[in-house]
Amino acid sequence: MKDKTLPNSHGYPPPWKIKKCRSYLLKWFKTNGRKFPWRNPSVSRYQCIIAEILLQRTKAETVAKFFPRFTREFPSWKKLDRLNLGELEDLLQPIGLWRRRALSIKSLATEMAKRNGRFPRNRPDIESLPGVGQYIANAILLFCHGEPQPLLDGNMARVLERVFGPRKMADIRHDPYLQKLAFDIVQCDAPRDVNWAILDLAATICLRQEPACERCPLSTICDYQSMKKKNNAGF
Ligand code: SF4
Repeated sequence: MKDKTLPNSHGYPPPWKIKKCRSYLLKWFKTNGRKFPWRNPSVSRYQCIIAEILLQRTKAETVAKFFPRFTREFPSWKKLDRLNLGELEDLLQPIGLWRRRALSIKSLATEMAKRNGRFPRNRPDIESLPGVGQYIANAILLFCHGEPQPLLDGNMARVLERVFGPRKMADIRHDPYLQKLAFDIVQCDAPRDVNWAILDLAATICLRQEPACERCPLSTICDYQSMKKKNNAGF
């Protein structure tokens, strides 16, 4: 009988496992998902993208304290563009995002103000915007154009690699296995929820140090957890 825990012959996880993972995540997210101001259905596209820019390398709890006032004072790209770089740096400094982040937000705000807040439709054009890399391009496609795209960062990578097996390349942006896996896992009617579920699981259960596997909704399908069990049993 075929062992369903093994990856398929190409080293890529079988579709049933990806499907199961997604469905466990969505079920868990319904009662365990975190509430943040940028997840409110009433937020604008501008607010969604600002949140994603701020969230890169900054804890969500820190951004949550800063985000409501920031987006109230600067409710559009045009308003944001009126700030000069120094003023933006001062605003972002308390959450540790000054200098480089301020520069990329400022250049994007200037460009978006010129474009009347409209993002281009396709990936190459989106990625050519100032301050927009792969992660933010995916966020724009997901939140502004409704495309199922993954918010693949180090946290999402950790969960996916533990459940399905490790990537080969150090840089997640260039690892084809991880890129495909992250893309496949969000191919459904609720790609935002799948993304948020993975990020929440990474922040609350699948921690970098000492993952709480006993509380995890993915424990029955997780490679890392099954290896841990085998090691504890002395295999
Ligand atoms: S079972 Fe453990 S290692 Fe696997 S995803 Fe859950 S917390 Fe992470």
